[in-house]
Amino acid sequence: MGFLIHSGTLVCMDQAGTVARGDLLVRDGKIAALGPAVGDALAALPPAERPDSFDATGALVVPGLIQGHLHLCQTLFRGMAEQPNLLRWLTERIWPLEAAHTEASLAASARLGLLELVASGVSCVHDMGTVRHTETIGVVLEQTGVRAIFGKALMDQGVGVPAALIETPAACLAEARALARRFQGAAGGRLAVSLAPRFVLAASTRLWEAVAAESQASSLLVHTHLAESMSETRAVASAVSTTAARYLAQRGLMTERLVAAHGVWLDLEELMLVEGARASLVHCPGSNLKLGSGIAALGDWLRLDLKRGLGSDGAACNNRLDLFHEMGLAAGLARVRHPERPPTARAILALATSEGARALGLDQVGSLEVGKQADVAVVDVRGPHHGPAAEADPYTALVHAARASDVRLTLVAGRVLYRDGSWTTLDPDTVRAEARAEARGLARRAELSAAA
Ligand SMILES: [Zn+2]
Repeated sequence: MGFLIHSGTLVCMDQAGTVARGDLLVRDGKIAALGPAVGDALAALPPAERPDSFDATGALVVPGLIQGHLHLCQTLFRGMAEQPNLLRWLTERIWPLEAAHTEASLAASARLGLLELVASGVSCVHDMGTVRHTETIGVVLEQTGVRAIFGKALMDQGVGVPAALIETPAACLAEARALARRFQGAAGGRLAVSLAPRFVLAASTRLWEAVAAESQASSLLVHTHLAESMSETRAVASAVSTTAARYLAQRGLMTERLVAAHGVWLDLEELMLVEGARASLVHCPGSNLKLGSGIAALGDWLRLDLKRGLGSDGAACNNRLDLFHEMGLAAGLARVRHPERPPTARAILALATSEGARALGLDQVGSLEVGKQADVAVVDVRGPHHGPAAEADPYTALVHAARASDVRLTLVAGRVLYRDGSWTTLDPDTVRAEARAEARGLARRAELSAAA
């Protein structure tokens, strides 16, 4: 039977830059047809044979948004971690809180994050979990219906890291392999697993080299943080006598399977190293501003055409999980950093769609094209915060005016996850109640000091 989205403006994000009034037909989880007359042909069918439909009048139909860097385990920490410095934020709040997670609190954190994400048009997440209980995240992702690449954080060292978050390289890789056996390609291909060494300071050379070998043997992506803040960059230099990017390159990690968040403090030579290896960077401007980390050189990323995405990072360092917010910040900050070559609004939207998919090696999503997976979001542009010409310049409307609350429909592989204020796989009252209860227990177990 399928599903028909009709009477919208299709913003396809394909190579040709197609923007057209029309309809989008989904069959068997994929985009079966696109165009102005798709719905008309179906109208001739007997009512019993017509697909379920959604009226997208006054709305933009876009590829489902791709969160390129996220920590669902941190959603419950929102508002509990306000240190304006990465290393203090980690040691005083995030690591103690992560160490206090139980399976129940982790599941509550992931569900609260996904409640927000699917209602904001996100169809795919690239998530770094915490050290323990990552299987729980996989189960929640499976149940919720989003597309995801996720991995457990790999940590075997670090100043200020609680003992509960430190494992031996053999133990953490064994668990990562077990996650991959269970979830790689699961849920009809919606789920994939990555290896996620947290950052240079939290992983030994032995662990990095083991991750490089494992990734080469298994083809799993490697998800990490890279050159996020200046104080971290100084600490890395004193720990390994070089920069993080050069250190990773020396250990065989700088490959087309590396997806690194931030890259704020990469110099031009390092950016060329990333580009030459076909590795990917994920821009997280909201997190970089809130933690006072800096402004990444997005203009250089675009000029070098390196693989790139956009992410909110965790709810504890943003504090929104809203890619519309990130797109606006990315556009504005790029104008500040490189006023001589401001990116187009389409290039910014690509970070969260077509380029975001390329960064994660996902060739079946990121654009609206026949045969691709039906990962789709519908964004209403009739609100008072949109100009009357929003549909004439959809890229500008999406990047500079749209809000998460403009999203009316989110589909993943043709399945409706969110429609006009209702979730199909999550009960919002239950998710919020569970989150409140689990957040209280988490803070108690973490024994956070109010003065910290
Ligand atoms: Zn992060």
